[in-house]
Amino acid sequence: LSSKLPRVGTTIFTEMSALAQQHNAVNLSQGFPDFDPHPKLIEAVSNAMKSGHNQYAPMGGWLPLRERIAEQIEQRYGTAFNPEDEITITAGATQALCTAMAATITEGDEVILFTPAYDAYAPLVELFGGTPVYVKLQFPDYHIDWDQLQHMISHKTKMIVINNPHNPTGAVLKEEDLDRLERIVKNSNILLLADEVYEHIIFDGLKHQSLLSRSALAERTIAVYSFGKTFHMTGWKLGYAVAPQNLMKEFRKVHQFNVFSVNRPAQVGLAEFLTDGSQWEVGQMYAQKRDEFLKLVSSSRFKALASHGSYFVLMDYSAVTDEPDMEYAKRLTIEKGLASIPVSVFYNVPTDHKVLRFCFAKNSETLERGAEILNTL
Ligand code: PMP
Ligand code: GLN
Repeated sequence: LSSKLPRVGTTIFTEMSALAQQHNAVNLSQGFPDFDPHPKLIEAVSNAMKSGHNQYAPMGGWLPLRERIAEQIEQRYGTAFNPEDEITITAGATQALCTAMAATITEGDEVILFTPAYDAYAPLVELFGGTPVYVKLQFPDYHIDWDQLQHMISHKTKMIVINNPHNPTGAVLKEEDLDRLERIVKNSNILLLADEVYEHIIFDGLKHQSLLSRSALAERTIAVYSFGKTFHMTGWKLGYAVAPQNLMKEFRKVHQFNVFSVNRPAQVGLAEFLTDGSQWEVGQMYAQKRDEFLKLVSSSRFKALASHGSYFVLMDYSAVTDEPDMEYAKRLTIEKGLASIPVSVFYNVPTDHKVLRFCFAKNSETLERGAEILNTL
């Protein structure tokens, strides 16, 4: 068989979590919380199972859940989406990303990605016959150079993928960024794929600048979200996609054949849980975790770069060693018992930045154990 993805191996998240387990290391690598979702959510899902919600959900998702999402978007971003035909519940943001690309990318299309980029984007673009075109975020604050982006646009540009808040860097977009984006895509047919899985995990009094908050952007956007990230249940694999009706129609053509519909009791339980709208507000809790971790490592030789959103922080280790990040991340796991993610894997070309990504979505005890190791290095 000739591989459709010859350059793709196993994701770094699988690799580092496995290495962490093998060496019994503190795992601050793969992004998932080590604490449970709200007991009320667990109870609501369990009740849904007990009351007979055990067969297929509707193809687009459990309608009351889509209604809760529409209310939340309208309240936060001021844009109305019809839960009937503009919101679809998916098996996590990953399936939403894949479905969005499958529905839109055709042979020869160019898709603009920012590096470092979440590792799923480029393989998906290539799987559907597209070519990734890379724009490098500017070290060390990882802002977008919009002139450079403008320069990379061609008549083949089909889509720009905007991940905000950004994994792995924790950078967030400002209002001026959306102004620039708006000017660039105006009078074009360019689509936007907004990966906003960390929309609620944003700090320092900043406001999440959703592409859905501006009609000129929302009209050409498929936005993807992750319940796993917001409600601490990444293992349930539940998320959603939001798009105007014409785009959602194409999205669902693919969705109905790659999964048809997703976990019904979890959707029913979430809809019930979200009748309390305050449950979406998790930013404060994560801000405390970030601050707790930063304080614990403040006297280490690792220098934290700014993280304004997501549940990750990058740390510069150049004061400790010259080793390349992949080598060092593995050695830290095996010899010192602390797992992180080397950031070079998120680039399309070699990079010699000495930075590792740490996940702080962890209990205090885990953060303390991780910091204790960092403080000895
Ligand atoms: N996009 C980004 C930026 C992510 O960090 C993740 C990983 N959580 C996903 C998409 C995938 O989300 P999910 O776990 O809901 O599939
Ligand atoms: N998004 C998570 C991270 O960045 C990992 C998800 C996955 O393992 N695919 O660590």
